Amino acid sequence: MIETLFAELDRLGLYSRGRFGAWKYEVSNQDHSLMQGVEWANRIRLGESETTVFFPNVVNAKPSR
Ligand SMILES: Cc1cc2nc3c(=O)[nH]c(=O)nc-3n(C[C@H](O)[C@H](O)[C@H](O)COP(=O)(O)OP(=O)(O)OC[C@H]3O[C@@H](n4cnc5c(N)ncnc54)[C@H](O)[C@@H]3O)c2cc1C
Repeated sequence: MIETLFAELDRLGLYSRGRFGAWKYEVSNQDHSLMQGVEWANRIRLGESETTVFFPNVVNAKPSR
């Protein structure tokens, strides 16, 4: 659902990220919020894809031993 809103906001040049911007409990800690900003900047500047806001399961996965 929120991804639908992101797409619409993107179209308007609005990038909603962070604790209340992305509204995703599982990626709302400080580290998550900071990385959402970093990844957004890298997307805009370098064309990289954003991981934290769109793939919480990936960034929250425990490292394999
Ligand atoms: C009690 C508590 C404990 C926490 N403990 C931890 C912890 O131990 N570890 C951890 O990682 N995270 C913790 N968090 C979460 C952490 O605070 C957030 O992850 C982080 O602050 C999110 O950053 P943000 O920039 O997305 O949002 P925020 O830090 O909320 O920043 C948003 C800013 O936008 C401003 N703003 C809002 N509306 C407007 C407007 N209309 N115009 C202009 N400015 C506006 C606000 O004043 C605020 O300064 C805690 C949160 C709370 C509430």
